[in-house]
Amino acid sequence: MKIRKCERCKRYTLREKCRCGLITVSPHPPKFSPEDRWGEWRRKAKKLVENRTIR
Ligand SMILES: [Zn+2]
Repeated sequence: MKIRKCERCKRYTLREKCRCGLITVSPHPPKFSPEDRWGEWRRKAKKLVENRTIR
């Protein structure tokens, strides 16, 4: 079972829908690393820069 949260009531529940009617969300967002995303962006940017370099 996953714990979920109603953002309107700020109440934790196990239901997918809060009793106020709002769809509850998982309080923890899907796992991802901002640093990894940044690293990927940097690699792409570096490649772009290298491709544009006039020698
Ligand atoms: Zn609610």
